[in-house]
Amino acid sequence: MSNSGTAEVLIPRSLCLIEDFDNLIIDEEDLCSISITWENGFVSELKPLKNKKPKNILFPRFVETHSHFDKSFTWGDFPNLESNYEGALSVNLEEHKTRTTEKVIKRVEKSLILAIKNGYRAIRSHIDTYQSQSFDVWIELFKLQKKYSSKLTLQFVALAPLEFWDTSNGEDLAKILSFYGGILGGVVVPPFNKKETSKFLSKMLLLASKHKLEIDLHIDESSIQPGAGINVLLKTIDKLKISIPITCSHLSSLIALKESEIAHIGKKMAEKNIKVVALPLTNFWLLNRKKKSTSLKRPVAPIKQLQKSHVDVSIGSDNVQDPWYPFGNFDPFYMMSCSIPMLQLNPWERMTLSSIFLAPSRLLNLKWDGLIEKGCPADFVILDAKRWADVFSSTLKRKVFIKGHLHC
Ligand SMILES: [Zn+2]
Repeated sequence: MSNSGTAEVLIPRSLCLIEDFDNLIIDEEDLCSISITWENGFVSELKPLKNKKPKNILFPRFVETHSHFDKSFTWGDFPNLESNYEGALSVNLEEHKTRTTEKVIKRVEKSLILAIKNGYRAIRSHIDTYQSQSFDVWIELFKLQKKYSSKLTLQFVALAPLEFWDTSNGEDLAKILSFYGGILGGVVVPPFNKKETSKFLSKMLLLASKHKLEIDLHIDESSIQPGAGINVLLKTIDKLKISIPITCSHLSSLIALKESEIAHIGKKMAEKNIKVVALPLTNFWLLNRKKKSTSLKRPVAPIKQLQKSHVDVSIGSDNVQDPWYPFGNFDPFYMMSCSIPMLQLNPWERMTLSSIFLAPSRLLNLKWDGLIEKGCPADFVILDAKRWADVFSSTLKRKVFIKGHLHC
C-alpha cells in the first residue's frame, strides 16, 4: 500500500507552517485552503490553493494526555449510579478485588485499537498501582507499548497512593519505570493532612530525581479547599530546591480562587515549568453534584487564566466507560465536541488549538510538535468537513493516515 499521496484540504491556520504565506486564502473561521503532498510517509509540499474551497479539513493525528486504560469499559460490571467522586472511588476499589493482569491487558489493548482507529498518535495512560499488585502487569504493559509503537506512542503513569513511593515496592517499581520510560503518579486531593502530604511528596520528588523520572499528579480534583494541593506541592518543591518535570492533572478547584490568586499560582507554576492537564469531562460529571437541585457551579482548571500566566495547558479526556465516567469512546472528536462549548473555547483561536494539539505534544515530549509543515510525518486525520460546525457533527466521516498510509 502506498505511503505517498496528495490532497486538497483546509487546515487551521495556527496548525500549519507554510512558506508562501502571502498567497494563502484564509476563511472567516481561520481555515486555510491548501494543497498537500506527502511522499514516503512525510509531507513533501504545502502550497496555497486558490479559486476553490476544499471539502475536507485536515488535522494532525491527536495526542491524549490523560486516560485510564486499565479500567476502561468496566462501567457495565462496576457502575457508579450515584455518579459522584466518592461513589467512583469506592466502586473502583471493588473492581481492584477482581483485577488480574489478563483483564487489564485486554482492556488496554481494546482501548489502544479504538484510539488508533479514531485518530490518536500518542496517549498517556495512568495505571492504578497498589501494594498487593504484582509487577507482572508492568512487564505486559511495556510489551504492548512496544507492540503498537509503529502506530502510537504510549506512556504509562503508575498511579499510586503517595506513601507507596516511600516503600521498597515503590523503589523497585521506580527502577522498572526508569528502565522502560514510565512516570511516577499519585493523588493529592483534599481533605488531607498538610504535613503528611508534604512529607510523602518530598519522598516522591526525591525518588523521581534519583531515577530521572517525571511526575504526573491527580491534584486538586475537588470542589473544596481551592488550590490546597498545588500550594503544598509548590512549597515542597521550594524546600527541596530540585527541578523535575511535573504535570498537574485536573487542578479543577483552582477556579474558585480570586483571579489574582490564580495569577500568582500560575506565575509560580510557569517558573517551575509545571504543566497542566485540564479534564472537563470527568470534572463536570463527578464534582459538586447535588442530589435535589441542579447547579452549574462546576470546577475545572482555569485554562485561559493559566495560559495567560504562561502555563502550558492541555485538555485531556480522562476516563472512558468506567465508574468515574460512563461515556466516551477514545474519540478525540467526542472530547472536542463536549469540551469546546462547555469551556467557551473558540476552535478558531490559536490558544484553543494549542491546548488540543501542540501543548499535548510538548507534554509527552514527542519528536513532532503537531504542526503541519514540510518534512513533518504524514500523520493526519482528514474529515469530510468544510467548517467547524461539520467537525462537531454526529455524522462525522474521517480518514486516518499513519506515516502516509491510509489506516481506516
Ligand atoms: Zn485521571
